Amino acid sequence: MKPVLVVNSGSSSLKYQVIDVDTNDSLISGLIERVSDHTAAFEQMVADLKASGVTPIAIGHRVVHGGSKFSQPAIVDQNVLNAIESLIPLAPLHNPGNLAGIKGAMAAFPGLIQVAVFDTAFHQTMPPAAYRYAIDRELEQKYSIRRYGFHGTSHSYVSKRAAKFLGKPNFTGVVLHLGNGGSACAVLNGRSVNTSMGLTPLQGLVMGTRSGDLDPAIVMYLANQGLSLDEIDQSLNKNAGLMGMTGDADLRDVLRRANQNDAVAREALEVYALRAKQYVGAYLAQLGPIDALVFTAGVGENSSEMRERITDGLEHLGIALDSEKNQIRDKSDRDVSRADSKVKILVIPTNEELEIAIQTAQLAGI
Ligand code: ADP
Repeated sequence: MKPVLVVNSGSSSLKYQVIDVDTNDSLISGLIERVSDHTAAFEQMVADLKASGVTPIAIGHRVVHGGSKFSQPAIVDQNVLNAIESLIPLAPLHNPGNLAGIKGAMAAFPGLIQVAVFDTAFHQTMPPAAYRYAIDRELEQKYSIRRYGFHGTSHSYVSKRAAKFLGKPNFTGVVLHLGNGGSACAVLNGRSVNTSMGLTPLQGLVMGTRSGDLDPAIVMYLANQGLSLDEIDQSLNKNAGLMGMTGDADLRDVLRRANQNDAVAREALEVYALRAKQYVGAYLAQLGPIDALVFTAGVGENSSEMRERITDGLEHLGIALDSEKNQIRDKSDRDVSRADSKVKILVIPTNEELEIAIQTAQLAGI
C-alpha cells in the first residue's frame, strides 16, 4: 500500500483525500469548511487521518497558478514556496489558500515529501500563437499577461484515459471539462495546444457563475457607467454565467426550469451550448483530424441533454452522437458516438485527486 495524501486548500475550505497509488483506491476523504486558520484546519485533518489509521507517505497539493514557471509538478522547497507566493497577483483568490495549505501540511507532516501540482502546468505546451494576446508588448511583458489556462490536471488525466480507451499511444482531440467552472482544451498528441480559460479562469465557456468570453470593452463601459472595478469583478465572476442569466448557477435547476417551458432558462441553455460548440469548431480548425471529442466533469459526465445540445448539428464535421448510448447512465469511460461517426464522442469521468496522487508518487519516486 502506498497512501498519498492529496490536499486542495482553498481560501476558506480544506479538501483532502488519501489515495493508494498501488490500487488507485480512495482510502479516506474529507472536507473542512469555513476555514479561517489553516494550521487549525490541518490539525483537524491530522486527527481525522489518525482516527482512520491511514498514514500518508507523501503529500500532493493542488496549486492553481504556476505562471510560466511551472510546466511540471515540483517538489516543494523554499524556492517553490517563493515562486508560488510571487504568483499571488495573478491568482489572488487561490494561491494564498494553496500556499497556506502547503505550509500547514509541512508543519503537520515534517519530513514528508510535499509536491505542488499546478492547474496551469499542462497548458505550458501551448504555442505562442495560442497563448499570446494581441496587446501592447510592453504591457504584456511587464505584467506577464498571457493565456495560462486552468483545469490542466483534469485535461491531462482525461487525455491519458482517452488515449488508453482508444488504444492509442497519445490522444488528439477536444476535451470539454464542464463543471461549475468550465474549459475546453485542444490536445495534440497528448499535449495541450490551446485552452479556453485565459490569464484567469474568467475567459471562455459559459460557467455556473462566470461569464466566460465577452467584449473587453464591456468592463470599461460599466466602469464609465459608475460601477467600481470590484463590483464589475464580482458581477462577472460570481453573478454571471448561468447564475447571471437565470438566477440559478446549478445546471440541473436550469434544465428543470427549461423543461417546464421557462423561456429565460431555455435561452441560457442555448447560450451555454453554442459557446461550447464554437470552441469545438475552433479547435477542430486548429487541430485538423481528431480522434475524439471528450466530455468530462459534473455536467459533461452527467448531462445527456447538454451533450446532445453541444453536438447537435456537428455531423458534417464527422461528429455524430448516438442518442440511445448517450442516455445510458454509467460511471465508466464510454463511447456515446454512432458507429458511423468519424470522430468518437467519449464520456470520461475526471479524477483530479487521483492525477495529483499519481504525479506526486512519480515525482517522489515511491
Ligand atoms: P466543480 O467544477 O465544482 O468541480 P463539478 O465538476 O462537480 O464541479 O460539476 C458541478 C456541476 O455539475 C453542477 O453545477 C451541476 O449543475 C452539474 N451536474 C451534476 N450532475 C448533473 C446532472 N445530472 N445533470 C446536469 N448537470 C449536472
